[in-house]
This record gives sequence, structure tokens and C-alpha cells, in this order.
Amino acid sequence: MSGAAPLLRVAGLTKRFGGFTAVDQVSFSVAEGEILGLLGPNGSGKSTTFNCIAGALRPMAGRVLFDGQEIAGRPADEVCRRGIGRTFQIPRPFRRLTLLENAVLAAHYGAGGAIPRAEAEARARDALRLAQLPDDLHATAAGLGAAGLKKLELARALATGPRLLLADESLGGLDAAEMRTAADMLRRIRDERGITIVWVEHIMGVLLSVVDRVVVLDHGAVIFEGTPQAAQEDPKVAEVYLGP
Ligand code: ADP
Ligand code: MG
Repeated sequence: MSGAAPLLRVAGLTKRFGGFTAVDQVSFSVAEGEILGLLGPNGSGKSTTFNCIAGALRPMAGRVLFDGQEIAGRPADEVCRRGIGRTFQIPRPFRRLTLLENAVLAAHYGAGGAIPRAEAEARARDALRLAQLPDDLHATAAGLGAAGLKKLELARALATGPRLLLADESLGGLDAAEMRTAADMLRRIRDERGITIVWVEHIMGVLLSVVDRVVVLDHGAVIFEGTPQAAQEDPKVAEVYLGP
């Protein structure tokens, strides 16, 4: 990273559920234009970290600075309006609405409702194209398979107009070819639109060929931060993924 201030800085982030610490003093930064892979096995605290950044959960301690502004504890709609778009690990479309309607709603949400319908629709169509959804945008979301649902989830996040995209398990339920397509899509979103990305997965695979840097969580704590190459050679990372 250069000397420029990071777009996102998470410092000492901590979240407990009852007596269980799901996120334990997590710190990392993301430079503008970077793709950061946030890795770790199931239950290591990745989605909880996203939820604390995106305003779905209130952290118990720690700071979340976006573009230099403290956003920890701010509500989800405000965080979205400030420029953080997120996908959910389990896609959450409105199933009876069309693909276009789903993305239009997201565009309005990201703009705080303050844009005309035509502008929202233009943003929605652009996001749907970027996420490579099928041509019939008037089909309902209920008709999509696993890969289509993941794409729509991405399109909805993009339609909010993010500077920073938090992508949670975009490869879940996809076959090998679909994973490659999804990974290339995330890279293109960064390359062509300059959108900074934090990309969560519990598997390393194709992610390592796309991300600039990797942070690995285990039991809620950061156990590794570095290049994808270094992650593959790190004994702590190998232990988490393969067992001792
Ligand atoms: P990951 O996304 O890395 O698989 P999560 O962040 O979803 O992990 O979960 C981290 C840990 O916190 C898990 O042990 C999970 O069971 C627990 N957890 C997550 N959300 C809640 C919740 N709302 N209440 C209680 N425990 C939770
Ligand atoms: Mg998760």
C-alpha cells in the first residue's frame, strides 16, 4: 500500500454474542482500488465482520473508518448511502419481483430515495449488465438458480452505487466454471469501475488468483495478512485449512 489513507480501516473490531467472542480485535485496512480477500474457515467470524462494517450489527468495541469517517454503529441504510454496498451470504432478493425491479429498489436504497425513477432504472440496468444477468430482466427472481441468485445479489449491491463492495461468499453453491466466471467478474468490477472490494470466502481456490492481498481469520482473530503467494506458504494458514 502507498502512503495514501486507506479507504477502509477496521481497528480492534470486537463482537460478542452472549459470552462467545465471534470477532476478536480484528484490524485491517483496504486501499482504494484494492481487492482484499478475507478468508477463514466456517464460523471464523467473516460474515460477522461484514455485518459490523455494514451496520447490520453493532460492534462492542473497535473502529470502522470509511474514507476517514467513523461509521461503527451507524445504521445500515446510512452506511450504504455513504458508499458501502454489500451482498449477503444467503441471497436475499424479493423473489416475486423481477430482476429489474429488484435492482431498481437497490438503486433507490443506495441513493436514499433521492433519485428519479429513470435514473434509478439506468443504474439498475448498468448493475445487472455488469453482473452478467440473463437478458430477460422482467423474469422474476424466483426463477433463478444458484449462480443466477449470486449474480443478482451482486447486481443489487452494485446498483446502490458503492465505492466499496463487500462480497460475502460469492462462490457458494457454484461449480468450477461458474466460480471462475464469478472471480473474473469481481476483477472486472474493480478494473473497469474502480470499485474497491473486500471479498469473503471460506475456500481459497480461485480467489487467490484475483485478490491483491489476503487477511485470514481463525476463531474471530486475524492469523495472517499478506500476499496470496505468502498465504499459500504460511504454516498457520495451512494448519487452519488442512488441520495440524
Ligand atoms: P463465518 O462467516 O466466518 O462462517 P460468522 O461470522 O457467520 O462466521 O460466525 C462466527 C461465529 O459467530 C460462529 O460461531 C457463529 O455460530 C456465531 N454467530 C454468528 N452470528 C450469531 C448470532 N447472531 N448469534 C449467536 N452466534 C452467532
Ligand atoms: Mg459467513
